[in-house]
Amino acid sequence: MRFALIMTRQNISLLGSTGSIGCSTLDVISHSDGAMHLCALAGHSNIKLLIEQTQQFKPKYVAVTNPQTASEVDKSLFPDGTILLKGPESLIQLAQLPEAQTVVCAVVGRAGLESTMAALQASKRVALANKESLVIGGELVIEASKKYNAPLLPIDSEHGAVFQSLRAGNHSEIKRVVLTASGGPFREYSEQQLQSVTLEQALAHPTWKMGKKITIDSATLMNKALEIVEARWLFNLTAEQIAVVIHPQSYVHSMVEFVDGSVIAQISPPDMRLPIQYALTCPERTPGPASQMDWSVCHKLDFFPPDMTQKRFKGLSLALKVVKYGGSSACVMNAANEVAVQYFIEGKIPFLEIVSTCCKAVDAHLQSGFIPHPTLDELIQIDNQTRQWTQRELDALANA
Ligand code: NDP
Ligand code: MG
Repeated sequence: MRFALIMTRQNISLLGSTGSIGCSTLDVISHSDGAMHLCALAGHSNIKLLIEQTQQFKPKYVAVTNPQTASEVDKSLFPDGTILLKGPESLIQLAQLPEAQTVVCAVVGRAGLESTMAALQASKRVALANKESLVIGGELVIEASKKYNAPLLPIDSEHGAVFQSLRAGNHSEIKRVVLTASGGPFREYSEQQLQSVTLEQALAHPTWKMGKKITIDSATLMNKALEIVEARWLFNLTAEQIAVVIHPQSYVHSMVEFVDGSVIAQISPPDMRLPIQYALTCPERTPGPASQMDWSVCHKLDFFPPDMTQKRFKGLSLALKVVKYGGSSACVMNAANEVAVQYFIEGKIPFLEIVSTCCKAVDAHLQSGFIPHPTLDELIQIDNQTRQWTQRELDALANA
């Protein structure tokens, strides 16, 4: 991964501005003393917030990507002179704006894939929160980053931590990367207790405040599964070089263990504004709005190995399997997860069914349909097929 020196004023196009990462990014921009300038914003359905953001930051472009919302939008509510774009394809336009040097990809889910690719193909500096792009199309994303000389900077806190820790050594000196996981709200639940957990309980994350989908992913540990695949691609690692440790306090965001036994970690309070800011300013560091460590009080840092034999941790084993197989297998894991999470949110399936469905979908795909080096079109097709397959499976389960 390469660094790029930041320019005097960094023009930023922000995709997914109305989400949790989007709002934190805006806070970082507003604390940058003018070093960062927002030239474009994209939101999907939350039009009220998008209008407020546009009034506050006055970007030249604003996009409403949900076609239904876009068809109802009243242009006069946006400030005069704002160029309003509509529909899903406007994400691509904002990802390739000539006036933007940096694109922040903060859309949730598979919907972020094409715009991440488009930003890389336009040689933008890409600050990536949308981990699903890397999970689905890791090989293509990394190839595009190299081919178009487009720096790819992780926003995900674990990967931001690994990225920073790697400054202490070379790639050939890595023994393993240790991703930390809070363990989510059900860290101490038995399998039996997990069978009846509610949506409300799953949404009550102990340390992070995030969007709905990633909060459910954190409860199932599928978020860590996605992050294993994300780390594989960002840092060019084998499955054997990736470990996960449960760290309930969420202060150590991840670590790199080097061949001599040194472990370098990055520590800060759980606040996404720090990894977002570092992705935007690195290799420089600047003061910013993120919360700081309070060293005048006692801190306890616990680390537990996840018990991979337990059913509730099987997403982690699935991710390591997917890293070994590579190809289209991670795309299937992601698509099945996105559909199953939605079914759980809608109250149609029990909690434990989410990860089980991901495992079944990957196994079925490995038996038939697996592609070792898929193209983007093939991945999109596999993603669509997996969504249909998963819906059929879960509808049958829900109606049983
Ligand atoms: P949110 O659900 O809070 O926000 C998602 C954003 O994407 C919103 O702006 C939403 O618009 C937009 N969006 C939703 N669907 C579509 C679509 N089909 N097309 C275009 N835009 C869409 O999610 P988060 O901010 O929590 O997460 C964003 C990404 O960052 C995810 O990939 C997540 O895994 C990753 N991430 C998040 C972290 C966090 O702390 N939140 C930490 C690390 C990674 P609208 O709301 O207007 O409908
Ligand atoms: Mg993370």
